[in-house]
Amino acid sequence: MKEKLAGKIALITGGSSGIGLATAKLFAAEGARVFITGRRQAELDAAAKEIGGNVVAVASDVSKLADLDRVFAMIQERAGRLDIVFANAGGGAFMPVDQVTEEHVDKYFGINVKGTLFTVQKALPLMSAGGTIVITGSMVSVQGVAAFGVYAATKAALRSFARTWAAEFKGRGIRVNVISPGVVVTPGYQSELGMTNEQIEAFKAEAAETTPLGRTGTPEEIAKAVLFLASDDSSFVNGIELFVDGGAAQI
Ligand code: NAD
Repeated sequence: MKEKLAGKIALITGGSSGIGLATAKLFAAEGARVFITGRRQAELDAAAKEIGGNVVAVASDVSKLADLDRVFAMIQERAGRLDIVFANAGGGAFMPVDQVTEEHVDKYFGINVKGTLFTVQKALPLMSAGGTIVITGSMVSVQGVAAFGVYAATKAALRSFARTWAAEFKGRGIRVNVISPGVVVTPGYQSELGMTNEQIEAFKAEAAETTPLGRTGTPEEIAKAVLFLASDDSSFVNGIELFVDGGAAQI
């Protein structure tokens, strides 16, 4: 069967771990040439090895505009264009509203909102009709989860960007959609959220209880939905938020 992304050039921010890494593997298997970014070169190199095939790994912080400029200059030089952007790098931390600090707000709005905005802005000159942008949101864009307010607000902002950009790119043939995962255990639960193995198991059990499918998801399940939005299979899908959450945010 024909590869779904044969000959496509794709950028995946936050492609060294979790959902981004699973998507990079799937994109490469479907014939894409994949550029991945993340903050640490050692992890990126390990990820590139795991992905195999046609991959370039670049250390770059999405919240730093000069880093983004370096990434797009490299893509321009090595590939000359960009067909798919998976703006996925992101993170969050639990913090009740009475403890939220300016630093916390700046950090997560800087990575999730500013980082995504400038990733897309700087990608556009390399993209043309048929290009696709997929942004990683979260089911918390529409759910109230205690102590997750700043993170949830960043993801709601991304959902809003997708609507605006779908309108703004009218006539250019570039589609933009949001993928909103439910609970999917990834390395970020330890490295970003600071959870222990025991806490992760308890969290998974709790999430399974409130999810119609009775379990949490996997990075590979999210990757398959990203492939749908990034490929021609979704050629008339634009401006949506696709929840991949086992139904958790739908009931
Ligand atoms: P992860 O920690 O395993 O991976 C995050 C990736 O983003 C890593 O490659 C990391 O290097 C990169 N990253 C983080 N900050 C960055 C920065 N400033 N610049 C460049 N790269 C950066 O986490 P994950 O769970 O795979 O998260 C991926 C995306 O999915 C995030 O946007 C997250 O908010 C979202 N998400 C995750 C879940 C979940 O349950 N795992 C649910 C909803 C949404």
